[in-house]
Amino acid sequence: MAIRLRDLRYRYRASSDFALHVDALDVAPGSAVFLQGASGSGKSTLLALLCGLLKPDSGSITVLGQELSGLSGRERDRFRARHIGLVFQQFNLVPFLTVEANILLAAHFAGSTAGAQQILPDLLARLQLPASLLPRRADSLSVGQQQRVAIARAAINAPALLIADEPTSALDADARDGFMELLFELQRERGMTLLFVSHERSLASYFTQVLDMRELNRRPSEGGVHAADTGLA
Ligand code: ADP
Ligand code: MG
Repeated sequence: MAIRLRDLRYRYRASSDFALHVDALDVAPGSAVFLQGASGSGKSTLLALLCGLLKPDSGSITVLGQELSGLSGRERDRFRARHIGLVFQQFNLVPFLTVEANILLAAHFAGSTAGAQQILPDLLARLQLPASLLPRRADSLSVGQQQRVAIARAAINAPALLIADEPTSALDADARDGFMELLFELQRERGMTLLFVSHERSLASYFTQVLDMRELNRRPSEGGVHAADTGLA
């Protein structure tokens, strides 16, 4: 399994009413999974747990065969840098760095800068990003170009797992379709596992597996027993 969760529980120390409790989740290698859920339902929290940015209160998280609880914080950072590509809502490019520096930053954290420099021209061509953009500052690019740089950065280490957290929320319909097509082209080519989070249900049709936070999270903290436990759901 690319992702395997068992009896996962997490609660923010500062937050009284939000709790995540996932009985089980299995994602097969090479699958494209759409995770939907309302704002505040815990999508980003679940992704942060899967990336090892947050530690669960209890339960097991295995990503690409690695049980994350067996790793120190530092080892989790390294594991994430090497094996997981991330694309965020606002693309999170460093605005004052060049396009090239933004992309190679991810490779630097994974300790693979030399390899990345070899792959870069092909990756750029595939994403239809002209090499002339490389020395430009990231904040001088159009939104469409920035989204492609964000994919390039997420893909530069050839991660086995690509996680995207609401990457399309700032895009118009045309840019969104273009983004989705590029993402899936890369996913098919590399055989990557794709976990894509959005509240835009219309995007679900692109994916082979659709998960819903409402079904995934038992949220036992809210009003005691969840409807599913009573047989009334
Ligand atoms: P989503 O990504 O589905 O919008 P989140 O995972 O960001 O949802 O948030 C789930 C819940 O956890 C929300 O109620 C949110 O306010 C709360 N939350 C998110 N981050 C933190 C944090 N760092 N500390 C305390 N509560 C948080
Ligand atoms: Mg979120």
